Amino acid sequence: MHGDLTPSTSLTSIGTSAPASPEPPVASNDDTTPSVEWIPPGIAGDLASRKNYPDQVMSPSGLQAAGTEALAQLSLAPGQRVMDDSQQGTYDILIIGARVAGASLALLLGERGYRVLMVDRDLFPSDTFSTHFLNSRVVALLNQLGVLADIEAAGFRHITRSRTYIEDCIFEGPMAPEGAFALAPRRDMLDATIIEHAERRGDVVFWERTHADGLIWEDGQVTGARLTSHDGEHREVRARVVVGADGKYSKVAKWVRAAAYHEVAPLRSVYYGYFQDVTPLLETAVELFFVQDRIGYIFPMQPGLDCLALELQPEEFAPFRADPQGVFEAIFRALPGMAARLRDARLTGKMMGTAGIPNHFRQAFGAGWALTGDAAYLKDPSTGFGIGDAIMQAMWLAEALDATLRGADWETTLSAFQRRRDETFLPAFEATLAVTREHDGTEDDLAWLRGAMANPHTARAIANRLPSALSGILPAPMWSYLKATAQAFGAKPAADQTPVPA
Ligand SMILES: Cc1cc2nc3c(=O)[nH]c(=O)nc-3n(C[C@H](O)[C@H](O)[C@H](O)COP(=O)(O)OP(=O)(O)OC[C@H]3O[C@@H](n4cnc5c(N)ncnc54)[C@H](O)[C@@H]3O)c2cc1C
Repeated sequence: MHGDLTPSTSLTSIGTSAPASPEPPVASNDDTTPSVEWIPPGIAGDLASRKNYPDQVMSPSGLQAAGTEALAQLSLAPGQRVMDDSQQGTYDILIIGARVAGASLALLLGERGYRVLMVDRDLFPSDTFSTHFLNSRVVALLNQLGVLADIEAAGFRHITRSRTYIEDCIFEGPMAPEGAFALAPRRDMLDATIIEHAERRGDVVFWERTHADGLIWEDGQVTGARLTSHDGEHREVRARVVVGADGKYSKVAKWVRAAAYHEVAPLRSVYYGYFQDVTPLLETAVELFFVQDRIGYIFPMQPGLDCLALELQPEEFAPFRADPQGVFEAIFRALPGMAARLRDARLTGKMMGTAGIPNHFRQAFGAGWALTGDAAYLKDPSTGFGIGDAIMQAMWLAEALDATLRGADWETTLSAFQRRRDETFLPAFEATLAVTREHDGTEDDLAWLRGAMANPHTARAIANRLPSALSGILPAPMWSYLKATAQAFGAKPAADQTPVPA
């Protein structure tokens, strides 16, 4: 994705002073560049527990102020996570990229006793270009990683309901089975918490503001990488395996020429921003608005703070760029009930956006290298699966690498990893493409919907006949996905035996 961000004049690369990258820019809010080198996430969590001050909870300026105080208390030197001569040597694993994919993998391998070096060109905690809705299955994965308690300490609202607007008709129901909930923790906090656990729980060294410039090859095998620190120092590091967890524009994937497959060009453009004081619903719900071929999202974060997003048709991107905030707010205010709910709301930071996200899988491994996270498998964010998929890949890849480092055959083990990834994710990938391509119904369709909603007895009769009615009319990937979700709510397997996503 090139030149896809807006407003181009106000964008900077987030949280990095590493050498200028030739990669596409990351959409950013200027405010997100921390002024201190590092703030332990535990401390960020303590701060975040001041629930009445969402500004201080999540805004980088709040973290900065608090970080200075915290660093003084702990006598931690800024710039602690730099290339350090004492760390020279060969590592078991070198991970390039330290957000959800890389940090989860580092945590899991570090816990298994491997010597891991993880590098990232960014300075942490810092934001990245992503909203951050985590469904209940991803919350369960965070719990499995052992990081959920620290994330919870920041006081995020438990999202237990899902509300869908089709023009002026509303459908609402539970988000997840009884007791489960979704969360929307901002990336600065989520990523930094996983990094901090990785460092604390295993033999994991992390160099931030360190840019990977290229790979080292010996006899056709990747054996390390060339790195540059923020102050221009160059270093070659050797590892038994190099993992690219470097995101959707992965340089590692490019260097190893990892083939892409199931490729689909970007389908929708996306804009989002953080708003304070949006009038909340009585019960915390994620809200999706399907109006005029746009999708609006409200992701509740802490009390008083929401992430609002819009997915648009590609042709709307150019007019949007001229005045992102003005157009965004005008569209949102026109959504059902939103004029009143946005009366006292205000944007914090800037709007961020992209013309679109490509969709594909990539070859996941080769001689001495592997890919994970968005570097390996990328899709439109409309279904919000990216973070959970990155954590799941980290879990499977950690298992596979553990086996090979203990002697299992590389080709066989990594092939099985890639097959597992593809077979598990392909149904959700296809469902994502289907929902992203879906257009809103015609005026005639809407008249039928309104007719059904106007008469509760009709609505009830339709609900009673859903399982048999829908199998024939939903696109196959969406039907498959619905079955999996219904089964999570206790539905018996439906009459037809279409396989469901694992
Ligand atoms: C607009 C948008 C909204 C989204 N909303 C959601 C959502 O609500 N829920 C959800 O689950 N997912 C969402 N996603 C998807 C999610 O953001 C990604 O799936 C997730 O960030 C992937 O994590 P990652 O660790 O693989 O990559 P990234 O988060 O992109 O991290 C890659 C890291 O690699 C580093 N790096 C890159 N190159 C180098 C280099 N050469 N040297 C050193 N470091 C390098 C970068 O600095 C970066 O920190 C959204 C995505 C977008 C674009």
